[in-house]
Amino acid sequence: MRVSSSTESCSYCRGAGYYLLEVPYGHPDFGQLMTCQCRAAEKQQQRRQRLLEMSNLGPFQEKTFENFDARVAGVGRAHTRALNFARQPQGWLILMGNYGCGKTHLAAAIANEVLQHHMFTVLFAVVPDLLDHLRGTFGPSSEVAYDERFEQIRSAHLLILDDFGTENATPWAREKLYQLFNHRYNYRLPTVITSNRDPKDIDPRIFSRMSDRELCDEITIIDAGDYRRILPSQRVEQRRQDHSRRKLRRESGS
Ligand SMILES: [Zn+2]
Repeated sequence: MRVSSSTESCSYCRGAGYYLLEVPYGHPDFGQLMTCQCRAAEKQQQRRQRLLEMSNLGPFQEKTFENFDARVAGVGRAHTRALNFARQPQGWLILMGNYGCGKTHLAAAIANEVLQHHMFTVLFAVVPDLLDHLRGTFGPSSEVAYDERFEQIRSAHLLILDDFGTENATPWAREKLYQLFNHRYNYRLPTVITSNRDPKDIDPRIFSRMSDRELCDEITIIDAGDYRRILPSQRVEQRRQDHSRRKLRRESGS
């Protein structure tokens, strides 16, 4: 049996994408064109593709939960919380940890997962790049572009702010970031924030919002070594060691 692809015609609508319902004259659906399932699926796929393009995930598309090694010491809690958040994006998820601890991978994995399962607008933004981008669209000649762009970002269903705290904190940038956080905060919009910044160095207006327990029940600190610097072979070794440690523990009955 041959599997028909979208370029071949569907046996139901013969490739038209639409069909007429066989209902008697006078029926409210008489003469109405119905969208065929083959076309509906295609449209959904196109919509998904558009959402993916809009997400700005680009180089982070490869980072998923499947290829995140949750056994690296120190990342377990962040991994669990990220998974839960991806299943049910609500409130704010804040992941803090040093450069290379895996927080960006987890943030991207959330974005990828949500894009796969929800028709959400997801925006993945590396904060310093985001500010550069906004600055580029800002100015008397391009005010409309700036307003539109800023509105898209601050109102995305899910916003990922990666690498918050490493940006150049000019007064302008501080103000934009504050406006962004404040909007997300006021409307309780699902947001993921990763940072390696010492909390005491974060703008107190933003930090007080990050610390609201109703929106974010904890700030998860990833106390891992360098996640990226652990080679896959070392990970296998680490897993083997974990396994034998657990086995030992079981055998010793503790
Ligand atoms: Zn069809």
